[in-house]
Amino acid sequence: MPISERARRRAKNLVAGGLIAPAREAAIATVAERFAVAITPEMAALIDPADAADPIARQFVPDERELEVAPEESDDPIGDHRFAPLKGIVHRYPDRVLLKPSHVCPVYCRFCFRREDVGPGGEALSPAELDAAFGYIREHPAIWEVIVTGGDPFLLSPRRLKEIVRALDAIPHVAVIRFHTRVPIVAPARVSAALVTALATEKALYVALHVNHPRELAPAAQVAIRRLNRAGIPLLSQSVLLKGVNDDAATLERLFRALVALRVKPYYLHHADLARGTAHLRTSLAEGQALMRRLHGRVSGLCQPIYVLDLPGGHGKVPVGPCYSRRGSADGEWEIDDPNGLIHTYPPLKKSR
Ligand code: SF4
Repeated sequence: MPISERARRRAKNLVAGGLIAPAREAAIATVAERFAVAITPEMAALIDPADAADPIARQFVPDERELEVAPEESDDPIGDHRFAPLKGIVHRYPDRVLLKPSHVCPVYCRFCFRREDVGPGGEALSPAELDAAFGYIREHPAIWEVIVTGGDPFLLSPRRLKEIVRALDAIPHVAVIRFHTRVPIVAPARVSAALVTALATEKALYVALHVNHPRELAPAAQVAIRRLNRAGIPLLSQSVLLKGVNDDAATLERLFRALVALRVKPYYLHHADLARGTAHLRTSLAEGQALMRRLHGRVSGLCQPIYVLDLPGGHGKVPVGPCYSRRGSADGEWEIDDPNGLIHTYPPLKKSR
């Protein structure tokens, strides 16, 4: 594969920043040719280069294993393309659409499920394309919620964000506008007063933050989150379960407790999607369920997201447990696990006199 000057520069910068050893530069340039690479100064500052297992580095620093593609992996793991009636729209469920105004992100996560679509060169929608996307939403009265995602929509200028919010505001059947972003965590200075003002609307507007490890909630990220909070914007979080990053109950507990204390409701814990070259970052479903069980006994419901899998092929997002109940042997009887692993019959067996 011919390696572009840009990919070579990316690898060189990683060596210069002490994030990869010089011996890996050529291999990492090959990875950078295949998938976008970017790390913000805020995230780079959180990485301990002396720690080979640093959980922040694992999320953003490219790895040679990304060139290994498992047979079950795909360039479109959750079937976005299949449900895209026009550029910038994904319409998978009757009552909601994704609106993707841009394909650029401040960082490029090594596990990204849209890694084949995001990156420099994947431009923003043109004004005409954006108008066509709004037209599609207008023509479909069943669309109740619009999820503005990407790429990262918070990389758009406040002026463009305001235009998007205004356009959605003017569509009567759209009741909920939800922005998905990593900016408040990885590039918090961008959460300016102008950006917050651009989100003002009488409709329900939610912001869902992508955050995977408690160390990402650094002081500057906390300031950005509080700024959104003070504007009265309800905040949710989405995390991806990642091997070597957050696949232990203590880390997840610290993450979800910290989010709730910042008034961010943990919403989804995503099982990592089957994106190409990401097997080294994926856990098994059984591991994910065991972690959720451990969390269940340790934290309140406020701190518990729903563990979900986006089914390959675009068949939708489903909760994947764990399940605490089974049918018992008698009619109408259930067996229920308690948080300590004990099994109870429900309804309780009546004592004979
Ligand atoms: S910020 Fe989101 S869209 Fe961008 S690379 Fe990370 S996971 Fe993918």
